[in-house]
Amino acid sequence: MISRIDLRGETLPEGSALRDLLPRAEFDVEAALEKVRPICEDVRHHGAAAVIDYGEKFDGVRVPSLRVPAEAIARALDELDPAVRAALEESIRRARMVHRDQRRTTHTTQVVPGGTVTEKWIPVERVGLYVPGGRAVYPSSVVMNVVPAQEAGVEGLAVASPPQKEFGGLPHPTILAACALLGVDEVYAAGGAQAIAMFAYGTADNADTADEPGCAPVNLVTGPGNIYVAAAKRLLKGRIGIDAEAGPTEIAILADSTADPVHVAADLISQAEHDPMAASVLVTDSDELAAATEAELKTQVAASKHVDDRIVPALAGRQSAIVLVRDLADGLKVVDAYGAEHLEIQTADAAAVADRVRNAGAIFVGPWAPVSLGDYCAGSNHVLPTGGCACHSSGLSVQSFLRGVHIVDYTRDALADVAHHVVTLAEAEDLPAHGAAIKARFGWKVPQSK
Ligand code: NAD
Repeated sequence: MISRIDLRGETLPEGSALRDLLPRAEFDVEAALEKVRPICEDVRHHGAAAVIDYGEKFDGVRVPSLRVPAEAIARALDELDPAVRAALEESIRRARMVHRDQRRTTHTTQVVPGGTVTEKWIPVERVGLYVPGGRAVYPSSVVMNVVPAQEAGVEGLAVASPPQKEFGGLPHPTILAACALLGVDEVYAAGGAQAIAMFAYGTADNADTADEPGCAPVNLVTGPGNIYVAAAKRLLKGRIGIDAEAGPTEIAILADSTADPVHVAADLISQAEHDPMAASVLVTDSDELAAATEAELKTQVAASKHVDDRIVPALAGRQSAIVLVRDLADGLKVVDAYGAEHLEIQTADAAAVADRVRNAGAIFVGPWAPVSLGDYCAGSNHVLPTGGCACHSSGLSVQSFLRGVHIVDYTRDALADVAHHVVTLAEAEDLPAHGAAIKARFGWKVPQSK
């Protein structure tokens, strides 16, 4: 069901040579670009009508209006199962605690007397949050996108999620209820590339009815999604900011002989349940754990839901494997080279081992912090870098919705003091007009520093 990669025979190679030995899903965003380009162009020129047409084509339902009516959002909350409501409220409460602590404060550095640089953090004005809804629905992603945006102070928040046939073209009611719990009232029944293009170009001038105001363009789009969502983000990046091009979801588990194979197998399966392209990777120095995990996988998969359409293709795919290493030091090299979206450490002294990890989207320490906890209720964010991007990028946070703006404030004396250096560097770069902009302020002379 899951293949083995044995790296115990030789000294591990470094960097990309090691990465090449490790499993990873094919996720060819470039190929999807040609599919989404005409979709984005159509939305650019035909606005809401095009978004509705593509919803009918890909989601199988023609929505009566793109903007979800306020009554439908309120009704979804009224009809929400009380247990789901309580769980969502707890998820929101914990996420708020963590994300509130991420807020940035304005900081001023006095560089010289009379010369200061202040870094001010300003929220993005208007953000479009994409919540997937093709294969599965993710109310938890509403929480993980909206909470950091709100804690950053974003004022304009719009959510888009695919229309669902069985709910008359509305997004899934649990997604609408999550929006209601978070106080988000601007929600669109739009999915895939057409939703991202709607956010980028807006539909205000092309509203489908005179009564519908349409979606105003946003400055930034965040949120996970499938390959069409990722391709549209790549295509429209620049016109809009994006958080990341999320690829298929991943778990890596670094485990030794102290790990419980029942937990390890359950966690590998929980990731595989997302998507046939999801990756589940166990890195271990223990033959016994590898064998026991393989046996557990057989037992637990047989008792799972979503077996044939997601779990088995994900575990059996080239992106998943049990990687055998000589020792934990090699295991750490492997997980650093892999740079998993989610990394679990199930070893003796797990906190100390976790402390030595460099590359991971989020790290889950010890036997009582499974990824499922982080998906919903740890307080951490679950929108994380995939495909090895954890070596250069972070997950979604308050910071994703802020821009640090430097405010430069110098007096005449403070400028005079450094003017000769500015003029020298301008001349070294053959940009004499830059030097002239300084000299013009001092009677066309370079002031001498004191
Ligand atoms: P989705 O909402 O991303 O995509 C559905 C949309 O894809 C549809 O509305 C449709 O418009 C479009 N589409 C479908 N077929 C198309 C085609 N042939 N051409 C053009 N467009 C087409 O939902 P999904 O497909 O279920 O994917 C969600 C992804 O998000 C999964 O890979 C899941 O693992 C991932 N995810 C990641 C996180 C995270 O935090 N990293 C969280 C939740 C979900």
